[in-house]
Amino acid sequence: MASINRNGPLKGRNAVVTGASRGIGEAIAARLAMEGANVVCSARTAETGESKLPGTLHATVDRIKRAGGEATFIKADLSEAADRERLIEQAVAAYGPVDILINNAAVTFFIPVETFPEKRFKLMMEVQVWAPFHLSQLVLPSMRERKQGWIVNISSPAGLHPKQPYTRRGGGAVYGMCKAALERFTTGLALEVYDDNIAVNVVSPGLVDTPGVAVHGLINEATKDRVQPIEYIAEAVYRLASGDPKTVTGRIDYAEPLLKELALQPAELV
Ligand code: NAP
Repeated sequence: MASINRNGPLKGRNAVVTGASRGIGEAIAARLAMEGANVVCSARTAETGESKLPGTLHATVDRIKRAGGEATFIKADLSEAADRERLIEQAVAAYGPVDILINNAAVTFFIPVETFPEKRFKLMMEVQVWAPFHLSQLVLPSMRERKQGWIVNISSPAGLHPKQPYTRRGGGAVYGMCKAALERFTTGLALEVYDDNIAVNVVSPGLVDTPGVAVHGLINEATKDRVQPIEYIAEAVYRLASGDPKTVTGRIDYAEPLLKELALQPAELV
């Protein structure tokens, strides 16, 4: 049965999870708390009524606390530099220096290149690429000082180049660009901080049933057999957020093959 182990391998580690008001971010927050981490959950939606989509930071934190874990929430709009800075400042004030940063939040528009509005392009790049970059800049000094840290960036197979025959609908070029940039950032940073014992990795989910996916109607007759349980992603992220930074770094991992490689079954979530 799912439970919290306050004395688990992440005991005393402080994690920040972005996009934790719903979907994959909520699941990751729960999974890290299950192993004893103190989890700062962040997004824009704190309370019911603040978003059209289901899920709130309040509910994510309650879910963790009810099960006996430690979590708090900090509202932040990741498209705003001041909010990103405040998020890390308040996370440090809440629990102490950040050991684990999970860059999961995303805003996505599927629109063909020809008509893609500049404003939306810039918003996607800001939230999906620049925010993970900037948040990493904000946590790296204390990780370097303490010679430990784990950054996990959440990507997507959309970051891979489309191959012929072209069976998919168009509109995903900008999303793919964001995720390709995030992946290249990950491996570049992994190299830069290797000597400081900081791991930087990617987990790339398959299709997961989340509020965001429902908005885009991505689950249908043709795709329903590919849907992956959210627990797979949470498990893969936990493993990359707790591995040895000397050996488990610079990886671009798909959840299912990673769990197979490690011979792991995903834990049920609290
Ligand atoms: P989701 O249900 O749409 O949730 C997105 C999260 O990002 C929400 O918590 C949202 O919170 C937050 N967010 C969006 N804009 C934000 C902003 N400006 N500032 C702060 N937070 C913001 O997404 P998901 O399906 O769980 O996806 C999570 C991650 O996995 C994304 O990086 C996505 O690209 C990736 N992924 C998902 C799938 C899938 O099938 N689900 C597949 C491949 C990759 P608020 O609205 O409350 O701010």
